[in-house]
Amino acid sequence: MDKKNIFNRMKKFPKVDLHRHLEGSITPETLVAVADKYGGKLPVYELKQLKPHIQVVNDPPDFQNFLSKFKVFRGFYPNRQAIEDIAYAAVKEAAEDNVKYLELRYSPTHFASNGKFAEQDVVEWISTAFNRACNDFDIIVIPLLTISRDYGVELAAGTVAMATRLPEGFFYGLDIAGDEVNNSAAPYAELFAHSKKSGLGLTIHAGEACGAANVRQAIKDFYADRIGHGVHAAEDESVMELVRARHIMLELCLTSNYYTGAVSSIKNHPIKKLMEYGVPVSLNSDDPAILGTTLTNEYVAAVTELGFSEDDLKAINRAALDCSFYPDKEKLKKELRHYWD
Ligand SMILES: [Zn+2]
Repeated sequence: MDKKNIFNRMKKFPKVDLHRHLEGSITPETLVAVADKYGGKLPVYELKQLKPHIQVVNDPPDFQNFLSKFKVFRGFYPNRQAIEDIAYAAVKEAAEDNVKYLELRYSPTHFASNGKFAEQDVVEWISTAFNRACNDFDIIVIPLLTISRDYGVELAAGTVAMATRLPEGFFYGLDIAGDEVNNSAAPYAELFAHSKKSGLGLTIHAGEACGAANVRQAIKDFYADRIGHGVHAAEDESVMELVRARHIMLELCLTSNYYTGAVSSIKNHPIKKLMEYGVPVSLNSDDPAILGTTLTNEYVAAVTELGFSEDDLKAINRAALDCSFYPDKEKLKKELRHYWD
């Protein structure tokens, strides 16, 4: 089958995405359109010139370079409407890519634009936009709360306190993202425990830019339900065994894992090794706009670079549904599972 045919099949293939950041889903086109409409400071306003500021596609793989792309967005958001348009567009694009179920995570601190907006207002605006988009398109979206290691524990504590006071329906999980190399997850342990007690699922970015020991720590010390990436778990059999035995899902992202330097090439990605070992894995997009990808393209890479069959992809989607943070998993499965049976 040629690549065009594979692309068309993968685009039609119904998909689950458990690991996608709203901050990394803002396409250059959306960003320029929003800046044109509402203002907002960008380094340049011409699309072609803007792309290298916010995309890694022409850069060599490097974790810090990847993280640096988010800086442009941080102070950008000019008003409520801009944030709502961005959130709506992210869901619309996922639905058009035939993503049927999406857990879309974001940091209210990021969208609050250096304190310009109250975080709770940001959460309400984004929720409104997600709900509107879910009514308009054939997709189920639940939001996860991201705290960043880069903002420090004090700010994160305020965000978690705000989020856990909200009524049900605003957040279904907590995620910690940011610079795994320079900022340990350990100072956030109390926040993880508090959010779990409040009924949120817990996913921790670990074993992405650092080794398998961080995956072990996330599971044994912080009781993570899922691991963001966890690619390096494959290098330590005792960690693979831990992940398998406790049925912890690794949220893998092929293109992202390449550009962050977690793997030397997609061909060398350990996803198949992990699957064969019995580790639950899912295939996700992470930051599609920053990586210049879509979930369809991730599936194409899985087929062409790693030899995935459609049966493998069905198994991956069934596993993803099993490990979702959706509050009524049986209802979700009833609605969606037929796509992959
Ligand atoms: Zn991520």
